[in-house]
Amino acid sequence: MTVWGGLDQLQLENRFRQLPADLYQSVRPQPLKNPHLVAFSTEAAALIGLDPCQASAQQLSEYFSGQRLLNGSDPLASVYAGHQFGGYTPQLGDGRAVLLGDLVGRDGQRWELQLKGSGKTPYSRHGDGRAALRSVIREYLCSEALAALDVPTTRALCIIGSETQIYRESIEFGASMVRMSPSHIRFGHFEYCYYTRRPDQLKQLADFVIEHHYPHCADQSNPYLAMYTEVVERTAQLLARWQALGFCHGVMNTDNMSILGVTLDYGPFGFLDEYQPDYICNRSDERGRYAYKQQPSIAMWNCVCLAQSLSGLVKQADLEIALNRFQPVYGIAYTELMKQRLGMEGKTGQDGVLIETFLQLLEQQKADYNNVFVALEQAIDGVMAPINQLLGGAIGFADWFSQYRQRLRGNATTLMAQHNPRVILRNYLAQQVIERAEQGDFSDLAQLHAALKTPFAAHLDIYSQATPEWGKNVSLSCSS
Ligand code: AMP
Ligand code: MG
Repeated sequence: MTVWGGLDQLQLENRFRQLPADLYQSVRPQPLKNPHLVAFSTEAAALIGLDPCQASAQQLSEYFSGQRLLNGSDPLASVYAGHQFGGYTPQLGDGRAVLLGDLVGRDGQRWELQLKGSGKTPYSRHGDGRAALRSVIREYLCSEALAALDVPTTRALCIIGSETQIYRESIEFGASMVRMSPSHIRFGHFEYCYYTRRPDQLKQLADFVIEHHYPHCADQSNPYLAMYTEVVERTAQLLARWQALGFCHGVMNTDNMSILGVTLDYGPFGFLDEYQPDYICNRSDERGRYAYKQQPSIAMWNCVCLAQSLSGLVKQADLEIALNRFQPVYGIAYTELMKQRLGMEGKTGQDGVLIETFLQLLEQQKADYNNVFVALEQAIDGVMAPINQLLGGAIGFADWFSQYRQRLRGNATTLMAQHNPRVILRNYLAQQVIERAEQGDFSDLAQLHAALKTPFAAHLDIYSQATPEWGKNVSLSCSS
């Protein structure tokens, strides 16, 4: 097990290499020019036993810009496939990330370390293998923010900036980021084995995932069915969290779906500003396939793709039964999370209707989806101005509010304060720190990161206010 130490003491293994050799290729990261440390997550470091005091900016820059390799690291890029916007792409893969290796963290959990933005790999297709500073800042902030909100996600250890020029809509600087997850295996890895007609490799992949990530499934009568059932359930739980928080992923292709049910691959994501179920955060998603309200059904569609890939290992009828777990698990989890946000303890037959009516009021008034919960908390304490400002004009608000007040019991505001963040990563906040970082000033980035680590604490007004008109409903492109 990893001891509490510096980068030199980290000892990596390469467990992914137990998988069939067709599924990966060795790659060396290509160094970035004049690397420098942009951001470092002490919380993520603690998970892998890396002592922040022993990890100097200089060392981090060397190890994570591709100049040096950690002990034991034998980097590789893996191949996968995926359904992108509904159509099948037979070959994708780690096009701009390499797996450095894995290690056991201080709590016994194993973590893979991936270096993103480290140059071309055999799966880069037409890409340059690089990542723009703005895109890794967005991923870094959002993964650390979701972790603090108790949403399963990959983690981010650090960002390294550089003077390597990359060509997007304009010339930008390339950066790298260390991403951590117990596994980065995607639905798309299974699809790759299935559509290339390699049932033996598919079985080895499934056995690997069960052995390392779903060991309790191994003694079930059909371990593959047990694993699939749990993937479906974890995915449904994840989606309930996204929806309750107003998080939009933006690119829910099957290659971006984690076999562990964690949030993976942060592209043009966004949190809802105004409550708009049709909100599309990805400018390239013209038809709204991945609009906020579509996310749960798309996740289920993606689970169907995974079921198809497993059809040689599990009977179709059993896969269907497992898939049918999605809706009830999602529904129960979502209702529970919304009840927490609304401070509703216990259970009554009216809870679903109260939640639904509340959302209709928000939609009518285009109310800020995050701050409205905080305003409700204040209203329960008798301070009505904020909620009146947000919802007072909605037809039916007075009726709804009186039914809601009658429904509450116990100490509703305590429950609400534990579940309603005072700060979320609004796109305009991310954009502001990115602009400063692109000018070489990382202090705002550190300050925003610090706020996002404690989302339920009181914060500066600049973080807790609703999005100003100019920053609302930004829709981002996939370019990153
Ligand atoms: P994404 O939309 O970020 O999930 O990426 C889809 C696929 O394109 C993945 O296989 C990525 O590895 C690959 N990709 C994205 N950007 C680049 C890039 N700049 N260079 C190489 N491959 C990339
Ligand atoms: Mg991806």
